Amino acid sequence: MMSATLDTPLSSLPGMLPRMTTALKKEGVACVRDVLLWLPFRHEDRAQAGDVLFQPSELPVCHQVIVQKAGNKYFGQRRGGGMFEAQVAPAAGSAWGQSLTLRWWNMPFMSRVIAEGQQLVIYGRIKEWKGRLSMDHPEFEVIDEEAETIHTGRITPVYRLRSGVTQKTLRTAAWHVVQALGQDFIADLLPRPSEAGEFAGWSRARALKAIHFAATMEELEKARRYLALEEFYSYQLRVVRRRRAVIQAGGHPHRAGLLADDFQKALPFELTPAQKRSLHEIQQDMASPAPMNRLLHGDVGSGKTVVAFAAMLGAVENGRQAALMAPTQILAEQHYQNARKWLEPLGVNVALRTGSRAEEGGVELFSKKHPSRGQVVIGTHALLHDDDLVRDLGIVVIDEQHKFGVAQRARLIQKGNTPDVLVMTATPIPRTLTLTIYGDLDVSTLDERPRERGKIITKVRPASKTEEAAVFLRAQLEEGRQAYLVYPLIEESEKLDVTAAKKGHESWAKLLPHFEVGLLHGKLSAEEKEAVMRSFRAGKIDALVSTTVIEVGVDVPNANVMYIHHAERYGLAQLHQLRGRIGRGSHTSYCVLFVPDKDEEATQRLAILEETTDGFRISEEDLKRRGPGDVLGKAQSGQAPLRFAELLADTRLVRLARQLAEKTMDEDPHLLDARFSELRSFVFQEDTPQAMMQ
Ligand code: ADP
Ligand code: MG
Repeated sequence: MMSATLDTPLSSLPGMLPRMTTALKKEGVACVRDVLLWLPFRHEDRAQAGDVLFQPSELPVCHQVIVQKAGNKYFGQRRGGGMFEAQVAPAAGSAWGQSLTLRWWNMPFMSRVIAEGQQLVIYGRIKEWKGRLSMDHPEFEVIDEEAETIHTGRITPVYRLRSGVTQKTLRTAAWHVVQALGQDFIADLLPRPSEAGEFAGWSRARALKAIHFAATMEELEKARRYLALEEFYSYQLRVVRRRRAVIQAGGHPHRAGLLADDFQKALPFELTPAQKRSLHEIQQDMASPAPMNRLLHGDVGSGKTVVAFAAMLGAVENGRQAALMAPTQILAEQHYQNARKWLEPLGVNVALRTGSRAEEGGVELFSKKHPSRGQVVIGTHALLHDDDLVRDLGIVVIDEQHKFGVAQRARLIQKGNTPDVLVMTATPIPRTLTLTIYGDLDVSTLDERPRERGKIITKVRPASKTEEAAVFLRAQLEEGRQAYLVYPLIEESEKLDVTAAKKGHESWAKLLPHFEVGLLHGKLSAEEKEAVMRSFRAGKIDALVSTTVIEVGVDVPNANVMYIHHAERYGLAQLHQLRGRIGRGSHTSYCVLFVPDKDEEATQRLAILEETTDGFRISEEDLKRRGPGDVLGKAQSGQAPLRFAELLADTRLVRLARQLAEKTMDEDPHLLDARFSELRSFVFQEDTPQAMMQ
């Protein structure tokens, strides 16, 4: 017979029964391609064991057996049903004499399927009861001398099903598809691997067949890696294309001079070696005429802000404007305060822009000296809508960049004339992920924190311990420290059973009678929020009850206690961020994560935060639990989900994909080759504002 093609209808494949093709067709699966691209989500090793002893086991096992006796058994009328039972013995000799009972409840028609003398391959859990071994509802296949087994006796694919198609139907179809396809039914996407490399002898066709039915576990693993490499390669093509587009766009050299040096000298502390190294990398980029496109990546409290300020001065020194965009009003205000404190003495004008036009209440503050001009402009997303204040940007800095959509970042960058771009994030990202998600960026890492920091002690505690926690808190406040008391929502919500911040404020005010307890939440006006933060910074408020509006960036070194109520509602990375508000002064800090009494799951999940304050480890743990999409949040919006994302942990594979993509882009920058016909639009897709809304 001629080999099938991707378009061959399933009905013309040998071995496919009409009822199977009908069932599949109802699910829109009509041809070879449809089956081939329905990838299994896991595999079971059902390689058969013909002469292995039957033994009780937790995991399902596979045996080849002979049926010795079979028939229906009926009990009283009470349960209405009966049981079909088959006594089987191992098919091969050495375990001779052993016996196992297979049982099917309420399936009398089994007597037409299984009969004495047949050979079966069975797959299931073996249980023992009073010395007798049994297996209930095993998966099985009758061994037919003519045909190979499909469902058992091999490494068996398991598919995620949609309604209407059974596992066996789909697997049978996949089997016949794989048998019918030849070697060249699909063109390779990857350049042919060098003969010496890991993938020598592999092709897309082979990988697609082996991902369904592989002869060995090694072959299966190789097929998965090959397909993962394809997927990473597609991403890297896009990343490399963007990177080259930015470089080709051409920018302006911003050579750092005296101003940046004076700034460093005037700081009340010395930069850490990591800060110096990162700043050096940034300044080198800025000095070159190609626009900088760099990620500054460092755990909470690693001191990204001063590095950003020093970088911004590089543009100012060259007569251009610098903008810093922060995700919240509070954070923008804080940066503004620092900028005035550190930059104005150097003669640099600083302006603040928050609140969008749509939102008339927004504040607009300007440096006193030159009210209409700002060499350094700091703000929220409101900057995006301001064409008066923001002109001639030489550098754009985006703080907590994961809080912004791709298009918002792009919009600010477009306001400049190919400005240098520095994005910052405190979400520690494993290296392979930065290569994939932020692959078009160069990366600087702040991998150490400024010294003289107090450590943070973290405990997960049941909510019923709040009173005891209050005693501890009073002692800390008496010593002059300050505290954050965090609640997840502002309004009481019956359904969610949230202790609202307002109620929390009332009860904490009672628990802390001699102290000033403040309240901060998202429904306050901008002025009210800033007034509260100013009092807190000034030490007039001792304990601040707050929603998560304080999550990012807020910096009050004297605050050393944080209680987080309903900690079970947060992700690990978010708790780590919140906790980053403390541990900023020289005092030992204390973080208590309250979870509902007896919530074992939460207690266990949050335990890692008791163990470590290393954001990198926490983020890896998060990655394991939730997958990269959730951890990275908006970073991935607009991108297709990675199917083989688990393999992202494999640096070698991601790097190989990068190398191959660089080479392809050298040889065929517009991807004109036919093998890219489907990929082209993905690679050249721009991040339009529309794309962000999806
Ligand atoms: P993040 O990286 O989380 O944005 P910040 O920039 O807010 O961190 O810095 C945290 C705190 O550390 C700030 O109070 C900042 O002034 C201080 N800081 C930054 N660099 C140093 C340093 N080299 N030595 C001492 N303190 C520093
Ligand atoms: Mg910050």
